[in-house]
Amino acid sequence: MTDVDTEFDSFRYGQYSPTNANPGIEKGTYLLANLFKELGLRATFHIQEENDPNQKISNRYPAVIEFLDEEDFEIGLHIHIKSLDKEIRRARIHEGVSGLRALGYRIRSYRAGWYFTSTSTIEALEENDIEFDCSPVKNSRVGPMRWYELPDSPYNPSRHDITRIGKSNVLVIPVTNYRLSVNYWPNSYPERRQAQKAMIEGIRFLGSLSERLSTPVILYITTHSWKPISENGESIREWVEERFRALVDTVSEFEYESNTVADVGDRWKKGGYEPYWYDAPDILGKILPWSSPRKHSRLNRIIGSRLLALNYHLTGKL
Ligand SMILES: [Zn+2]
Repeated sequence: MTDVDTEFDSFRYGQYSPTNANPGIEKGTYLLANLFKELGLRATFHIQEENDPNQKISNRYPAVIEFLDEEDFEIGLHIHIKSLDKEIRRARIHEGVSGLRALGYRIRSYRAGWYFTSTSTIEALEENDIEFDCSPVKNSRVGPMRWYELPDSPYNPSRHDITRIGKSNVLVIPVTNYRLSVNYWPNSYPERRQAQKAMIEGIRFLGSLSERLSTPVILYITTHSWKPISENGESIREWVEERFRALVDTVSEFEYESNTVADVGDRWKKGGYEPYWYDAPDILGKILPWSSPRKHSRLNRIIGSRLLALNYHLTGKL
């Protein structure tokens, strides 16, 4: 399963926007779409639609969405909301989804900006008939959200706590466990080479797990429209393409199919599968330098994530 946060290039820098040019949208999206087609990868492109008209892809780059839709990719919704307030989330999601639906796109999947979904988001998604929330990255944290106890598989969350199983109609599809290193794509060399090896190890862990389980095992790769383009927008990062090729080569060692978010969601619902957890080896922790907080996953989980949650409550910063 593959998806792309299709967003304004300023978001590659978090808050800071040094440029108004968007080579990621204008070039990166097409590069990824064409590569996926060549490699036989189905994918979902989550389209950024903020309430500022200048931050709506449908307003500034409608041809990009048309192209993706014509090429048979799934169109999803992507919005960056820092507030946890239910009314704010409800209004923003309603506006975003209505705009895309008014243009004729069938929107079924949601990816929160910064992966910051929440319990308050689930109700907003339900009300707007969005079926799948594919925002949490298992074994990571954002703002006050701690994604450590989630199942490693899709699950219907509780309306009172998104991290627990419950009765919501929205299906949460977590991004693959961070420890497996499949979504760690550093730009510099030689780190990216090491990261590619770690990805292969992570995929093989999931592949062999899939041979033992009767329930499908999901390898969820997520990227951004700006990722295949250098930061100044001038050159193409060939190593991004190479890494996707290595990914497909490794997956091909096992029996697999490639899907969009909605394909996986439909398949999960139809199969009536129960959520499950697996014990992921810390492949990422092995390759990170000592200075990286993520290297110390236990400490990070127990203390670091709670300090950052407190910081969010005090300052509103993610
Ligand atoms: Zn984003």
